[in-house]
Amino acid sequence: MSELYTRRASGICQIRLPMHDHALRYINAYLVEGDDGYALVDCGWGTPDVLAALESALAELGVGLQSIRTVVVTHFHSDHYGLAGTLARLAGTRLFMHHADWAVLDSRFRDIDREMHRRDAWLARNGFATADYAADDRIRRLAGRMSLQRPDRELEDGELVTLGTHAFRVVWTPGHSPGHICLYDEERKTLLSGDHILPQITPHIGYWSDGDPDPLGTFLTSLAKVAELGAKHVLPAHREPIDDLAGRIEELFAHHREREAQILAELDGTPRTGNEVASRLPWRRKISSFEELPATERSFALVETLAHLEHLRARALVERIDAPDLVRYRKLP
Ligand SMILES: [Zn+2]
Ligand SMILES: [Zn+2]
Repeated sequence: MSELYTRRASGICQIRLPMHDHALRYINAYLVEGDDGYALVDCGWGTPDVLAALESALAELGVGLQSIRTVVVTHFHSDHYGLAGTLARLAGTRLFMHHADWAVLDSRFRDIDREMHRRDAWLARNGFATADYAADDRIRRLAGRMSLQRPDRELEDGELVTLGTHAFRVVWTPGHSPGHICLYDEERKTLLSGDHILPQITPHIGYWSDGDPDPLGTFLTSLAKVAELGAKHVLPAHREPIDDLAGRIEELFAHHREREAQILAELDGTPRTGNEVASRLPWRRKISSFEELPATERSFALVETLAHLEHLRARALVERIDAPDLVRYRKLP
């Protein structure tokens, strides 16, 4: 099957955009048809191959790039936001996103180099061995995948966005990112779920010290919020549509309960770094150990573990011991 794949469902067309050499393989952008032009929800990396894939998918549908009037991004990650600047330049496309994610980009990503070094310092304080970790590669890769584009409209929770013939309610679902949104077409009971709810994959929730003090707690609250919607059709940003939203949400809750139990079992009165805790946990469905993971995946695994530790700390089950060069956690009696 080709990397590119389209599907029509109630005026919303799925377009797969490639993520070469990435485990996710592709992102689903959604083209929403309208009387006066089209809107695209999420737009892929800002790379030439993604632009070419988008143009050829649009050509198959008989849609010109210039007909894309609006891009709405569910969150600021480069696979969702990356191409927005290019589309604004080439087609004059307007960009909509939640204000909290624009605030992240505006304050931290004007200097990607500095942001990556800041992140590495945070990983090191949590016991991560950064020696074999090529920060420069990551910076180059990320810089090649996105350019900063200021949104034309900053979205708020609960507001209505009309895209073509569809009216979508903005459902703010922070956790995976501070300004993550889902878009809900109440009339068709169709939810564009971004990375908030994915099939098979547990969305990455990381703790980075300078943002939400309890991102996992925030994410779980956002899951409960989406469960209330009663959506029948769920179109995620990666993989296939989800048939059973309530069931998938329950699986995600169960996954985090299980993870929390594993982490608590590794803690006692001895202070341990996040890295030490992470290295004792099973990863990738117990296939490989923490040490066997590639360095980038290991860094994600560490900040996911930190998100759990901070969620335990928010409920006074764990305490954090902050030293200038090392952060450690221990179980409270
Ligand atoms: Zn994401
Ligand atoms: Zn994504």
